[in-house]
Amino acid sequence: MRSLILIGHGSHLNGESATAVYRYADLIRERGLYDEVVEGYWKEEPSLRQVLRTTSSTDVTVIPMFISEGYFTEVVIPRELGLGHQGPVPPGGVARVIGGRTVRYTLPYGVHPSMTDVILARAREALPDFSAQDTALIVLGHGTTRNENSNKVIYRAADLIRESGQFAQVQALFLDEEPKVGTWPEVISAPRVVVVPFFASEGWHTLETIPEDMGLTGEVTAFPENPHGAQTVYYAKPVGTHPAVADVILHLAQEASGALAQDGDVERGHEQAWQTVLSRARRGLRIGEVMITPDSGVYELRHALDEGRPGAELRTLVTPEGVRDTIRKDDGGEHRPVHTLRNAPRGWRAVLSEEDLRRAVHYAYPAVVEETYAHTCHALRATPWPTTARRQTGIYAKVQKATPEQVEHVAHDVCTSCLRTRLWAGEKLTHTFLDGVPGGIPCAEACTVLVAEVREEVSGKRGEKAGHAH
Ligand code: SF4
Repeated sequence: MRSLILIGHGSHLNGESATAVYRYADLIRERGLYDEVVEGYWKEEPSLRQVLRTTSSTDVTVIPMFISEGYFTEVVIPRELGLGHQGPVPPGGVARVIGGRTVRYTLPYGVHPSMTDVILARAREALPDFSAQDTALIVLGHGTTRNENSNKVIYRAADLIRESGQFAQVQALFLDEEPKVGTWPEVISAPRVVVVPFFASEGWHTLETIPEDMGLTGEVTAFPENPHGAQTVYYAKPVGTHPAVADVILHLAQEASGALAQDGDVERGHEQAWQTVLSRARRGLRIGEVMITPDSGVYELRHALDEGRPGAELRTLVTPEGVRDTIRKDDGGEHRPVHTLRNAPRGWRAVLSEEDLRRAVHYAYPAVVEETYAHTCHALRATPWPTTARRQTGIYAKVQKATPEQVEHVAHDVCTSCLRTRLWAGEKLTHTFLDGVPGGIPCAEACTVLVAEVREEVSGKRGEKAGHAH
């Protein structure tokens, strides 16, 4: 028996806060995918401590109905449920066996990459005929200095939508932090502006604070004399009450279904990483330069820059090995020892089953899925340069003599052409391709190409070759 538990904040003062959770529970119940769908609350009944006792299932998935990660999702809910987990939750969720049942706990729905679809749906409702030429989108968050995560999700959503090119301008603004919502007439220049509040429910902020701060008088407000000329603002409903959130919840639950109840087991961790990638691939996914598109039960892979090109113009590959042999050389026929360098060849497409997709992704970007997933679980350890250098022997031992400036100089040339972010040099990677940022891939340790280039630098032989991989 499988159960889904939706956890809301609830309120001691009014029943409104729980309404959205009840609505989603109803919507998901109607689809009949779970034997039961149960609600639980922090401030109402059943409480977080009681809720697990209300189900007799042996397989329980718990979804926090929150818009961002933070104290509640990372500390309070896991503690109250007795999960024995504290802190950030990986994209595939965490799982524990509690009282004989497997309990899977996911990220809050608001941080799932498919929430951008919900923002777009809200924008379309408010302004059905928007066009990229003259319409700006404001993604409006609460923002707070106490919890930095709450603004990250807004910035990420704005970045993803901006990249899609559907609006003249996309801007993240906040009620409680800079850039503040009241600055919109200065920062937005498009004549039409659609505002989508990234809020969990309709309430004081969406009904009063936001309209007041923006000077809105209703769903559509005209501003004839703004600094950038006449502007019309279309005010959308909050994302958290859109029916499509039910789909986001189901995506989260599906992705957590691969979560196994023993953390720390390397093989299981790998399986969880792949289950997460496959689940995302079912809705379309970009990893680095490669785009994966689901197509009636199979998957198509191609270079992202070949997006939209007719299949007949591309060489069709039908096996993972075909992908491997193609992707090992760049368009000039040069060998590609590091696959995350931004020189993947174009002009091909691969049509593969789900099973083959996994092998093809592995060939296209070896170890990238496992390392990126480990990074999101805070389990990827970076190896600083001195440790890598000390390990080198034979002709490479001389890299130990490289000064930090020399290493940085070489890395500046070599790594600039690479998708990876150098964790080993202290760089930070907050979003990965699992969050919808295609180039977000960690580099935990200097690769052999970089080591070889540092050796050339130390020998004084580097020069014209700078920036080129061997
Ligand atoms: S060391 Fe630089 S070039 Fe090598 S994988 Fe890392 S980021 Fe890429």
